[in-house]
Amino acid sequence: MKYVSTRGEAPVLAFDDVLLAGLAEDGGLYVPQDWPQFSTDELSSMAGMSYAKIAYRVIRPFVGGTIADSDLEKMVEETYAGFGHVAVAPLKQIGSNDWLMELFQGPTLAFKDFALQLVGRMFAHVLAARGERVTIVGATSGDTGSAAIEACRDRENIDIFILFPEGRVSPVQQRQMTTVDSANVHAIAVAGTFDDCQDLVKGMFNDTQFRKAQNLSAVNSINWARVMAQIVYYVVAAVRLGAPSRPVSFAVPTGNFGNVFAGWAAWKCGLPIDRLVVGTNSNDILFRFFETGEMKMAGVEPTLSPSMDIQVSSNFERLLFDMLDGDGAAVRDWIAAFRKSGAVSVDDARLAGAREKISASRLDDDGTRRVIREIYETTGELLDPHSAIGVDAARQCRGNKEVPMVTLATAHPAKFPDAVKAATGIHPQLPERMSDLFDRNEKFDTLPNDIAAVQDFVRRAVEGHS
Ligand SMILES: *Cc1c(COP(=O)(O)O)cnc(C)c1O
Repeated sequence: MKYVSTRGEAPVLAFDDVLLAGLAEDGGLYVPQDWPQFSTDELSSMAGMSYAKIAYRVIRPFVGGTIADSDLEKMVEETYAGFGHVAVAPLKQIGSNDWLMELFQGPTLAFKDFALQLVGRMFAHVLAARGERVTIVGATSGDTGSAAIEACRDRENIDIFILFPEGRVSPVQQRQMTTVDSANVHAIAVAGTFDDCQDLVKGMFNDTQFRKAQNLSAVNSINWARVMAQIVYYVVAAVRLGAPSRPVSFAVPTGNFGNVFAGWAAWKCGLPIDRLVVGTNSNDILFRFFETGEMKMAGVEPTLSPSMDIQVSSNFERLLFDMLDGDGAAVRDWIAAFRKSGAVSVDDARLAGAREKISASRLDDDGTRRVIREIYETTGELLDPHSAIGVDAARQCRGNKEVPMVTLATAHPAKFPDAVKAATGIHPQLPERMSDLFDRNEKFDTLPNDIAAVQDFVRRAVEGHS
């Protein structure tokens, strides 16, 4: 299995190199050169298997032998054994032929754990085999930093530094990052905004000398390995609900397009998916694209679903590559035109091709609260705001009612207690295993919004235990 860049000018790589590289050298994203195919017999045989067993089968062809089978199998088993529900990704019925897949049973209560918990292990494994180490740096507005920290904690050849804006993340979010008691984890409160944090991270990557000396790396959502790991739950949901003999549809609350692209990838591998529904909040660039074929930038406004407040979805480039028939030069032109004018289109035939599989919808904050309340009243389930947008998307773009529809629930309601309380009057409780979050000791450093200070901190911390 080899991987090519969506922009066609980077070296063709095997999985282990793609994993460590993240972004391709030409600025593109890695995608498989060919999609492995799951046969009908293979899918049938998965119906009764555990999540981890299916995960191993789905992931193995993508890894292409760069990690030994026995190591991979062990890593996958360990990853999902750490989740808070025996089913790992339980399916709940919320209507006739209407399902919710709970992707929030991981250590940080959001779906990103499904990929990051495995990717952290894969990083450590590949680095150990090569005798290398890395320094991972990232910025968070609160929601995603903890998933990266949990993925990297206690891994020998990794140090992780997560910058967050001091006083601007919610108490749950802050504590999920600052109560991790591991020597290689460094949560840093920056006296500044989220944009300042992002600029500091960019500044560190742009400082070539520093980047090389520290062997800087990132585990952001463009990493192919994250998309790969997310293909698994599409397969799990589908085989539980009748695939391969009947198709299944999915509704996906979407931000950077990584999650829904994993669904597209599952379909490319032969999973019978009827429809993929992209749910957006009022930051609706993707909704408008699937309506009109034009990708047109607009300002980002904050909503109740912050993980979907995006201007440009980085993983969309992978779909674009498919829509443009794998033509890297055409992708480059398209991206360049978009950068230049903030707007670019695909022709009607290509749009129609994508719409055969993908629909899109949008929901504002009032609608989000309404859906949370309605679902609570009719089923007793508490939805977080992101998942509520997914449920609404499923309804708006239902299509064939005989096809089971699965909404991916991407966060636990207790991660967004204020929105849930406002909609239902109920304060959602953290799961038992995390109920002492507010009694744990916090450990973090506070630094000025100053690149030299942050770099100095990183250098010293890494030296301190290498
Ligand atoms: C990251 C995230 C999303 C968006 O997922 P993408 O893969 O970026 O589209 C949706 N919901 C929650 C809770 C998230 O954390």
